[in-house]
Amino acid sequence: MTYVVKPWIGGKAVDGKGGTVDIDNPATGEVIGTLELVSPEQVEEAIELADKAQKEWRNKSIPKRQEVMYKFRQLVMEDIDNMAQLSVDEHGKTLSDARGEIQRGLETVEYACNIGANSKGQYSYNVGTNVDLKVIRQPLGVVAGIVPFNFPAMVPMWMFPLALATGNAIVLKPANAVPSAAFDMAKKLKEAGLPDGLFSLLPGDNQITNVIIDNPAVQGVSFVGSTKVAKLVQKRAIEAGKRVQALGGANNHAMVMPDADQEFVAKWLAAAAFGAAGERCMALSVAVAVGEAGEGLAEAVKKQAGQIAIPGQGNDEKAGFGPVISKAAQERIISWIDEAEKLGAKVILDGRKHKVEGYEGGYWLGPTILEDVPLEAKAYCEEVFGPVLLIQHRDSFDEAIELMNRQTVGNGSAIFTNDGGVARRFEHEIEAGMVGINVPIPTPVAYHSFGGWKDSLNGEHHIHGPEGVEFYTRAKAITSRWPSEDEVHDATLSFEKED
Ligand code: NAD
Repeated sequence: MTYVVKPWIGGKAVDGKGGTVDIDNPATGEVIGTLELVSPEQVEEAIELADKAQKEWRNKSIPKRQEVMYKFRQLVMEDIDNMAQLSVDEHGKTLSDARGEIQRGLETVEYACNIGANSKGQYSYNVGTNVDLKVIRQPLGVVAGIVPFNFPAMVPMWMFPLALATGNAIVLKPANAVPSAAFDMAKKLKEAGLPDGLFSLLPGDNQITNVIIDNPAVQGVSFVGSTKVAKLVQKRAIEAGKRVQALGGANNHAMVMPDADQEFVAKWLAAAAFGAAGERCMALSVAVAVGEAGEGLAEAVKKQAGQIAIPGQGNDEKAGFGPVISKAAQERIISWIDEAEKLGAKVILDGRKHKVEGYEGGYWLGPTILEDVPLEAKAYCEEVFGPVLLIQHRDSFDEAIELMNRQTVGNGSAIFTNDGGVARRFEHEIEAGMVGINVPIPTPVAYHSFGGWKDSLNGEHHIHGPEGVEFYTRAKAITSRWPSEDEVHDATLSFEKED
């Protein structure tokens, strides 16, 4: 039996007038649902309602806005397994990974529950005689969120809790392959008491992204996705005079120093490269082994990879990771492995022919390890976004960091070492926005901000945490004078008196 997911406009599900697309289960390759898309007119309607609702919402007290977030958090906690199941079915995640994603998203909700403390202004007393200055932060108005397929719940939660808690309305365009988690959150926001119109869900084709960005009422655009689209979105938003944060793709490298414990390194490399089928923007794609660190490293990771079970649907408790998102993604990844092999890479572990009994139609790939991959191979110079780890060798720290800093992207990066001095040099020299020291996936907790460098982030603001609050608000500096009796009656106007 299949289901239908609809757009959410004005606090309710509505019929989509922009056609439909199928929703697949990547574990089986079967169509499990239909997504109704919005028409451009429906985007206009949703933004008009958002604009109207925001004008009242921005005047609500901080406790009232926080209360919605507290209730929303409670509703998600009570229903976390059902929510996680939506991503198991549509994305192919394992149940524990899907649950973990929601929990990470809830960190931002918790930050929004405390928005009073987290959006405090500034005050300077007596900057002149009887003159004070305060800086307050006010919401932008209507903002937009455009999100990728790989975190159906968490990435939306990087955006809407802070946007709403700071007094904005938000329209969200989900990724069409995985709309149900966002739809479920729309219902929960309503149940939590969010007034109608403040949150809309606008599934649509690529053109809908542009219609959203171009609408004059939209003041800010948060985007998370591939670098190619991030750049398009950034350009379009800037041309339309909008504030924009467009987080892009990655190609994360880890340096392995000879003093690091090989078993520890191999365990974490396997987890960070193959976990979530490599479909994380913080997945580790390349290990750069320095000198003797490379001896036996590929075999050690292969041994770890051998312990990862891929038994089928993510509900199986033994499942280490699931399928990739689509047949197209599966075919692209296989073709990039083929090309790397042709160019001379050694295939240490080959996941290209991985089959799962009972799930023959699914988009499966097993863990794959390639060694000494020529730098011109797509598997090296592009983002693979699949369960593939490359192991490269360099003779020194300098050569390794030179290789790593050649990347045009700079999302996450890590080093494995027991030498504090080397680690400190690494954190100073590496060109990436998030750095791990013996931590392969250094995703900051949500009371800090998340974002890469270079082409991994297009725009000034990182997402969530303090920079998220800054992004969704603008500062206003107010200078006020409350003159004394003497000053009121002093007819002399003089700059000297302003001491
Ligand atoms: P994507 O760029 O293909 O799509 C992202 C969103 O943009 C989707 O909603 C999609 O419908 C829309 N879109 C796609 N093409 C468009 C176009 N030409 N014009 C307008 N809108 C368009 O990304 P994806 O494949 O869904 O997600 C995977 C990518 O996201 C990877 O590159 C991954 O690294 C990146 N990602 C980055 C972060 C980060 O924090 N930097 C986090 C998660 C994912």
